[in-house]
Order: sequence, then C-alpha cells, then structure tokens
Amino acid sequence: MPMEPPNDQWHAGTEVIAQYNFQGRSAEDLPFSKGDLLVIRRATSDRMWYRACNTDGREGMIPANYVQPRKVVTLHAMPWFHGKITRPQAEELLKPREDGLFLIRESSNYPGDYTLCVCHGGKVEHYRILYRDNQLTIDEESFFRNLDELVQHYLEDADGLCTRLTRPVTKKGGTFGTVSLQEFKSGGWVINRQDLDIGEAIGKGDFGDVYKGVYKGQPVAIKQLKDKDRGEQSFLQEASVMTSLRHDNLVRLIGVVLGETIYLVTEFMGKGNLVEYLRSRGRSVITKKDQINFATDTCAAMEYLESKSLVHRDLAARNVLVHDDGKAKVSDFGLAKFGDFSQTGMKFPIKWTAPEALRENKFTSKSDMWSFGILLWEIYSFGRVPYPRIPLTDVVMHVERGYRMEAPEGCPPEIYSIMKQAWELKPEERPTFKSVLARLNNQRAVTV
Ligand code: ADP
Ligand code: MG
Repeated sequence: MPMEPPNDQWHAGTEVIAQYNFQGRSAEDLPFSKGDLLVIRRATSDRMWYRACNTDGREGMIPANYVQPRKVVTLHAMPWFHGKITRPQAEELLKPREDGLFLIRESSNYPGDYTLCVCHGGKVEHYRILYRDNQLTIDEESFFRNLDELVQHYLEDADGLCTRLTRPVTKKGGTFGTVSLQEFKSGGWVINRQDLDIGEAIGKGDFGDVYKGVYKGQPVAIKQLKDKDRGEQSFLQEASVMTSLRHDNLVRLIGVVLGETIYLVTEFMGKGNLVEYLRSRGRSVITKKDQINFATDTCAAMEYLESKSLVHRDLAARNVLVHDDGKAKVSDFGLAKFGDFSQTGMKFPIKWTAPEALRENKFTSKSDMWSFGILLWEIYSFGRVPYPRIPLTDVVMHVERGYRMEAPEGCPPEIYSIMKQAWELKPEERPTFKSVLARLNNQRAVTV
C-alpha cells in the first residue's frame, strides 16, 4: 500500500477513484470500496486526509493515499494507425515494399491487442503488440504507455525488430486522434459491467440504443455501442472528449464499460432531450422563465467550450438534455472537434449548420454560434422544425440569398436580435458566446 501523500493538493471538485477498500476508523470517516468514485470537497491541515463526498451524497474524511485522481484521456494524432483492417488489406497498403515502411492495425485475432506491420526485404512482417498491465510491448522487454511512444522508440532503433521504422503509411480520408483503450483504464474511467444495472430503453442514438440504469446507487444513462467494429473509435472519441470537460451545463461522463459490448455511462437526464420536452409541454406549460433559462444554460456550456477552443459541430435542441431539476445540459460530443460528418457517414444537420461549414467544412465556434441561433429559435417556437415549409435542399440557397427566419410568436426582441446576429453570413460578424451569455443573463434578470 502506498504511504506517500499526493504531490499536489487536490482542489474542491477533483474526482478521485478508490484504489483500495477503506472501512473507516471513526464516524468522521467515509468508508468506500475499490473502484468507488469520490469527489473532493476540501483539503485539511493534514495533507494525508481530505474531506470528500460519495455518489450517494454522503460526506466524510478519506485517506489520500487510498485514492487516485481521474486523468483526462487524450486523443493522439496517429496517422499510421489504420484501425480494424485485415492482414491482406495491410499488405496492400504497404507498397512499395521499402524497408521500414510501416503501419499499425488492430489485431483481428486478439481483440484489444495491436499489430505492427513493417516492410523488410520485400516482405511484410507482422508483429503482435501485446497489452499487459496497462502497458504495450512487442518483445516483453521494452514497454510503452501508448502506441505513440512505441512508434517513437522503433523509429529511433530497430531494437530487435527486422528493421528500424522509417516512414508511415498514413491513413487516407483524414487522420485524426485515436483513442487507446488502456488510457481509459489507467485514467480511472473504466466501470465494471457487474456494477451496472441496465433498465429500460429511453432513446435511440446513431451508434446504438440508450438505456436508463443504475450505477452504485446513482441513476445513469447508458449508451450501448451497437456495432463495435464500425463505431468503436467515434464512440470512444466522444468519451475521451468528455473526460476533459467539467461544467454544470455539460452532460457529465461517469465512465465507460469496455469488453465484448462497449457502454458509455453518463449522468441521467430525467426529462429527456430539449426538443421533445418543448414539443410535449408546449405554450401552456413552458414559461418565459423556462425559455430564458434553457437559453442561458446552453450558452454557458458553449462559452465554456469556446474558451477551450472546442467546437461542438452538432448543437441543436435534440442534443440538449433536461435534468430532473430543470437545468439544461449540452450533450453529444461525438463530433466535437475531432470528428467529421463525412468520416462517420452521417448526414449533415443542414438546417442547423452554418453556410461556410456546409460549403467548406469550416467548423469553428462561430459556426457553433450559427447553430445556437437556430437552437434559440427552437426554444422560442416550442420545438418546431426550423425553416418550416422550406424543403431541405433549398434551405442553403435561400439562406445565402439573405432569407432569415422570422421571430417566433412571443419571442422577446432582444432574443431575436441575438438570433439575427448569430446568422450573419460572415462568421467574424457573429458574436462570441461570451458576449451572448452576458446579454442572456441580462434578459434573464428582466424575465418574470
Ligand atoms: P446520438 O449521439 O446518437 O445522437 P444521443 O446522445 O443524442 O445519441 O442520445 C439519443 C437519445 O437518448 C437522446 O435524444 C435522449 O432522448 C436519450 N438520452 C441520451 N443521453 C441521455 C441521458 N444522459 N439522460 C437521459 N436521456 C438520454
Ligand atoms: Mg443526438
């Protein structure tokens, strides 16, 4: 058992994962089991002890050396990583057979392991990369934390391989970050399937169904990946983006289940998605106050993403969820920053997407602002489909000629003025989320 206290002090809100069981020695202590998620409340004068809270909301003292903070899972730019391709496909890509030309693929025989394919003497050698105790190795002598480190090593030195790596075959169709499963494990994000009670289906997503469930006494939403072979990377990219985000108006990732079936576990949003919420309740139930609250909540989340230079790309009322307490939170980070509609074979949400993003694939916080304008329109029209009566194929043409939707009935002029600015054709003329948030907060103050 490690007896060293952590090097840096953890601030309030830090999430830690229990590495051991702790029974507690007095009523002051908070007992926990290995794998439990705890949130730090505050430090104490003794740096070995923190005050923390468990998922049931119970608070108490915990020993710092029994827990480990969660780590952000990052995406590595791995242009040489080709995902799940077969051995013959790899050999087809490795042409001409120049010594040291290489790529890495997922092992087809050993799920979870990888294969390094490298040319030498006119042939292709396939080395199995083993995944052992959170580390990767080919020869069980040199170990690496991720594929990137492994590649860097063998680019410098053959170190037992038939040749030193020289040049990668880069993946076509855009290379973007790849997520490695072991980072979820070492980062403290993996949940045991046994700890998860899966209940009724509550929604359908592009990659699979969403269920209601319970994880360690806490209500959760569980997104199941339908087709592991096709969606795994996009699915885990969504999860990896979520590991780096912490904001009250962003749906929080609780963890992932890896294995035969992959699940993404998030906080449960009892009132479902905003568009259905608006449609089902309508004018008779939803107040002006509710509307401005939804708008402000969403904008606060977007301001946070803007400050991190993260682009959402698919902001729409269907991707905003409503908590039991009425708070709105932005979800669906599957396409955030790293993803690509064309890559995932998904259709562009044309009515929500800025013209420059549709035309030139230019996604920025300014194109998110355009979508936010549409989202405002959805909120104030109680969930109507934007551009009613205009066929999908004609929307872009009308918009580029200057057509803009009218203010929904009863929409405050200040809100409509934000919409109009969000729909400026030139992205640089659109406001920032920061400035819009200030205006919405003012509007909220005068809304009764
Ligand atoms: P996709 O990424 O494929 O668009 P979503 O994340 O939007 O999938 O989920 C599809 C639907 O499932 C949502 O519209 C919503 O109704 C439901 N859902 C998703 N996540 C949650 C959650 N955390 N709490 C409650 N319902 C959810
Ligand atoms: Mg969605």
